[in-house]
Amino acid sequence: MANANLVGRCGLYCGACAIYRAYKDDGEYLAKLAQHFKCPLEKVRCEGCMALTPECWGYNCRIVQCLRDKGLEFCYQCSEYESETCEKFEKLAKPYLKEDGVNMRANLERIRKGETEEWLIESEEKYKCPICGKPLSTGAIKRKCYHCGADLYKKKF
Ligand SMILES: [Zn+2]
Repeated sequence: MANANLVGRCGLYCGACAIYRAYKDDGEYLAKLAQHFKCPLEKVRCEGCMALTPECWGYNCRIVQCLRDKGLEFCYQCSEYESETCEKFEKLAKPYLKEDGVNMRANLERIRKGETEEWLIESEEKYKCPICGKPLSTGAIKRKCYHCGADLYKKKF
């Protein structure tokens, strides 16, 4: 069963988000992220875009706030998304595509077409360590598995 809370309203898969993973997987990765963001450990927490509480990292996300203000659920429902003029979306989507190979527009199209469940299952499969099978963030999957320590740097996905 796919976890429906992990559907990012901008088209990101929350299950591979560094914040979400650090919060759920705990340990070394959580400590590393808290240090990176210079914040206390308890701050690094998120339940996923569809289950946000005010304590969640994503609650104050600019895109989430924007959608909330506009009364929309997903970015694809917005005219600025269609015309590719939304600065918030483009600023997030471009580096994700370039650096992590994550195509937020393609993901949103899946959601728009009602293929959310399939997309979630595929994403869950995609973002896991090929050695130990545990879930990983988009960043960790290109470097090193923080569960088993496998060096994933040279692996092709
Ligand atoms: Zn592993």
